[in-house]
Amino acid sequence: MDRHLAAVLERIGEVARAERWREAAELELTPLQARIMGLVAAHEEGAVGVVRIATELQLSRPTISDSVALLVSKGLLLRRPDPHDGRRHFLKLSAKARRTLHVGSPLDVAVSGLNDRSKEGLFLGLMHVLHRLSTEGTVQVQRMCWTCVHYNGDRERKHRCLLLQKALAIGDLRSDCSEHELA
Ligand code: SF4
Repeated sequence: MDRHLAAVLERIGEVARAERWREAAELELTPLQARIMGLVAAHEEGAVGVVRIATELQLSRPTISDSVALLVSKGLLLRRPDPHDGRRHFLKLSAKARRTLHVGSPLDVAVSGLNDRSKEGLFLGLMHVLHRLSTEGTVQVQRMCWTCVHYNGDRERKHRCLLLQKALAIGDLRSDCSEHELA
């Protein structure tokens, strides 16, 4: 069973990678540019800038800065002034990028076909896998609820965020929260 599950996860990872390549080809992006776009897309509500992207991708700031400049010149990323620091900018997807990246991917469509119970079971199981990978150091940067100082719960049925002061439903658990503080 363990091997079957790992094999299925690997197959799904391949689908996700293929989808990313399709989007990258459509937008004529290099693999690094595609990863940067993916990161910005995943943090649309947060302030993602060059420093954070360099940290997440474990690459130098000049390397990221050059790729970001190209993406801005292609009209795929927009620079917005950081309201908390006048010397910095954060990045947003342009409407053109959003149109290409946000068309329902095969994975989105497949997941949406599950019933709520299956979704919750799958999500919780995957959070456990991610948590294990994170504590083993296989995944380098993780800001998930279960490693957060503000998390209070049993990682199964009870989940509470002490910062937000509210109970979290399974679907509210975060795997990349901007308010995360390592416990
Ligand atoms: S601050 Fe974010 S990561 Fe931490 S427990 Fe609350 S929702 Fe989860």
